[in-house]
Amino acid sequence: MMTYTLPDLNYDYSALEPHISARIMELHHSKHHQAYVTGANAALDAMAEARANDNFATLPKLQKDLAFNLGGHVNHSIFWKNLSAEGGEASGELLAAISEYFGSYEAFTKHFTAAAMGIQGSGWAYLAWDSMSNRLIIGQLYDQQGNLSMGSIPLLMLDMWEHAFYLDYVNVKADYIKAFWNIVNWADVETRFASVKANSSSLLLG
Ligand code: FE
Repeated sequence: MMTYTLPDLNYDYSALEPHISARIMELHHSKHHQAYVTGANAALDAMAEARANDNFATLPKLQKDLAFNLGGHVNHSIFWKNLSAEGGEASGELLAAISEYFGSYEAFTKHFTAAAMGIQGSGWAYLAWDSMSNRLIIGQLYDQQGNLSMGSIPLLMLDMWEHAFYLDYVNVKADYIKAFWNIVNWADVETRFASVKANSSSLLLG
C-alpha cells in the first residue's frame, strides 16, 4: 500500500531557469524526491511487518528511516511550492511580521542566508511559525529532520543539499542562495502564513 506519493510540480522542469536548471529540477524531483517517497512507504511497510511478527528488533532503524524519508518528502513538497518563475516580494501581513520579528526584510534575508550558508553537511534553511511563542523563527534543519522543535511549522524552505545546486553552481553556495531570492513564491508563503497563524496555537496547547 502506497501511503505517500510524489506530487506533480505546478510548473515545467525548465520553468525556473536560469536560476535552477531543468536538469537539476528533473533529477531533484523525479529521482531524489521519489527516493524519499519510496523510503517512507518502505519504512511504514516494514513497521507493519514488525507488528505482524511481533518482532521489533530493527525498530530504532525503521523509526530513523521513517523520520528521514518522511522529512525529505515533506521538505521537498513545500520547497517546490515555495518556488515560482515569477518570483516577487513579500508583502502585507507577512512582510509586517517579518519586520516585527527580524527587524527588517533586509535583516531577515541576511539571517536566512547566513543560516543557509552555515549548515555543516546537508540540510535546509527554513522560515517557520513557532506555535509555542506565536512568532516567526529561522532555523537550520540537519539532513531532512534534525535540529527543530515539534512546534515549528515550515513556511519557506531552502534545500542546501549539494544535489540541489551542485550541477549549476558547483561549490558557490552564495550564488545559489542569491538565485533563490529571485524565485521565491511569496504568494505561497503568505498563504501558509495566514493559515498557520489562524490555527497553530490551539494545535499545540489544546
Ligand atoms: Fe533535495
